[in-house]
Amino acid sequence: MPSSRPLVSTGKNKLMVEDLKAPSSGHCTCCEHMLAVVSVAGRPLCLTCAPAFALDEPGIDDVATLIWLPHLDQGALGRCVTALHVAARATDHTVHDQSLTGQALSAKRAFEALLSCRLGAVEKIGTDRPSLYRSALKSLSRNPLPEAHETGLRILMKGTWFPDNPRRYLDAAQEWAVAR
Ligand SMILES: [Zn+2]
Repeated sequence: MPSSRPLVSTGKNKLMVEDLKAPSSGHCTCCEHMLAVVSVAGRPLCLTCAPAFALDEPGIDDVATLIWLPHLDQGALGRCVTALHVAARATDHTVHDQSLTGQALSAKRAFEALLSCRLGAVEKIGTDRPSLYRSALKSLSRNPLPEAHETGLRILMKGTWFPDNPRRYLDAAQEWAVAR
C-alpha cells in the first residue's frame, strides 16, 4: 500500500513538479482518488496532492499551507479538499469567494475549518509556510525531526496552481469531476 507520507524531509534533491509525459490512467499515489497527472521525485500524483511533495517549487506558499491535522493522513485530506474545491467550482465560485450560498457556502466553511488548523502548525513548528519548513529541514546536516507523516503536519492545497498557470488546478479538478 502506498504511504501517505506528505513531506519528504530528507535529501538534497529538488522537490519540483514535473508533468507526466504520457497521459496517465493511474491514480494518484497519495490520495488514490484523482488521476495522477504530474510527478514529484518520480512519484505520480494528482494536482491536489502534488504540493504536499513539491516543497521546492517557487510559489509553494501561495499554493499550499502547513496545517496540524493528526487525525487525517495526507491522502484522506487530499480527497476531502478535492471535494470542497470541486463543490465550489461547480457553482462558478472558489472557497475563497464571499457571499456564497448553498453547497459553495458549505464547502467554504469546511475549507475554512481546515485552514484554521494553520494555527496548530504555527504553534508546533513556528510557521505555516511550507517553504520555511523545507529550508529549515535542508539546513540540518542530520535530520533530528520525525518524518512528517509521523506527526500531525499536513499540507493543505489552497485551490490555485503555481504561478505559471494559476487556473490549472480548478480547471483540472472540475474536468475530472465532470468526467466521472
Ligand atoms: Zn492525490
